[in-house]
Amino acid sequence: GSAATVIERNTSFSTLNSDDVSYFKELLGEKSVVEDEDVLLTANTDWMRKYKGSSKLLLQPKTTHEVSQILKYCNSRCLPVVPQGGNTGLVGGSVPVFDEVIINMGSMNNIISLDKVSGILVCEAGCILENLISFLDNHGFIMPLDLGAKGSCQIGGNVSTNAGGLRLVRYGSLHGTVLGLEAVLANGDVIDMLGTLRKDNTGYDLKHLFIGSEGSLGIVTKVSILTPPKLSSVNLAFLACEDYFSCQKLLVEAKRRLGDILSAFEFLDNQSMDLVLNHLEGARNPLPSSMHNFYVLIETTGSDESYDKEKLEAFLLSSMEGGLISDGVLAQDINQASSFWRIREGVPEALMKAGAVYKYDLSIPVEKMYDLVDEMRIRMGQTAKVIAYGHLGDSNLHLNISAPQYDDKILAQIEPYVYEWTSEHKGSISAEHGLGLMKANKIFYSKSPETVQVMGSIKKLLDPNGILNPYKVLPQSLSSYH
Ligand code: FAD
Repeated sequence: GSAATVIERNTSFSTLNSDDVSYFKELLGEKSVVEDEDVLLTANTDWMRKYKGSSKLLLQPKTTHEVSQILKYCNSRCLPVVPQGGNTGLVGGSVPVFDEVIINMGSMNNIISLDKVSGILVCEAGCILENLISFLDNHGFIMPLDLGAKGSCQIGGNVSTNAGGLRLVRYGSLHGTVLGLEAVLANGDVIDMLGTLRKDNTGYDLKHLFIGSEGSLGIVTKVSILTPPKLSSVNLAFLACEDYFSCQKLLVEAKRRLGDILSAFEFLDNQSMDLVLNHLEGARNPLPSSMHNFYVLIETTGSDESYDKEKLEAFLLSSMEGGLISDGVLAQDINQASSFWRIREGVPEALMKAGAVYKYDLSIPVEKMYDLVDEMRIRMGQTAKVIAYGHLGDSNLHLNISAPQYDDKILAQIEPYVYEWTSEHKGSISAEHGLGLMKANKIFYSKSPETVQVMGSIKKLLDPNGILNPYKVLPQSLSSYH
């Protein structure tokens, strides 16, 4: 199923030889130059096992200087590279398309500093998100982002994909919380933008180019990020709604009535719930008495246990009375809360276990969002299941078509229809996962030709040989030059 079948290898790239490998061994030491077939097989394959490259070499730099030397060398040799974090990306961006050298950032995993007054954390790009969450927890802070892949994904990968996740509704996107970063350009130049200031209007704020550019403009080596204080009272409600309109109204009400304490608003439909119950070991429906059409998770985070609880309970009561929710339960302790989250966060894993999956990550105005799901169910008929869930609080729908196996006929039923529909409704074809390989050629559904042209010029300026993550993000004519 790899899209590599329709893309041609850029003929201006050279091919790895034994001199290259010797150079890297000299530079990094034998241990950090990996040619082991098993390790390479894993690193060549993406999380969904849908995209597969054929790289013969994986490098594990330990310092910014090493990253710089690697890129300088690759650039002079015209050797293409793929920056790789936790390899949890969902658009085929983190694995080679052909034989690109994999630069794995996992060995750059030091925490550099935490300012306990401002909450500003500075760390290396290879730190695993969950490790940062635990570290901060011990110091009374939290990460402003959280996502189901936290056990493997790295902060450098999060920044490079501008990951959204479960807390965006409260803390905003990484364009707001990342205060600075250090990046290495294709020619090896190290760009120090590792500021720790909230306010700094001295010229173009170049860090934003690296947030969400998916390794196509440089390798992120260090990140400085503003982390909110950990608040003492966290509550989680698992609710049932009978129709999509009620979910929408509940969101409007939650924003209005919970305001400052709302920290997540997630939804899944009954097909998603079904899938989780059937495929995830130990998963159980928190509202077992009957199956409902929609489920919503509402999390509040605040500093006053009794006030917050009262506020949430009053909100739930009036929503129940107003007929917006038909059933619901409040997590009684941390274990119950994590079992509720497991249902929502487990949908991607359950989808993987169910067979082949076509994933779409769309931003669509909330009121139109579920129309697409209904239309897709009619389109797909009995050939595939349509599973919908996502970050409703941010108008972000994860639309998934689940089938026993990949099949071009099924794909033709989905694309370009999904993209055209999204574009017509002024949505985005990538809310948070990025374009990667999957959607590089689809960029025009969401960006004007003039905008894409400017992106191409920036790419050419920063990476004139096109060695950084080729074939990804931009249409091939702009991302790798023949
Ligand atoms: P990788 O997958 O390794 O790489 C992703 C991209 O970033 C690639 O293009 C790669 O080349 C580039 N890259 C990685 N590290 C660097 C670096 N240091 N410098 C330059 N480029 C780099 N995403 C969301 O936004 N929200 C979610 O809620 C969410 N939930 C998920 C749940 C599950 C179960 C899974 C499997 C994925 C989920 N994702 C989600 C997608 C994914 O986890 C995120 O995109 C994540 O941020 C990727 O981080 P990573 O370290 O795994 O990066």
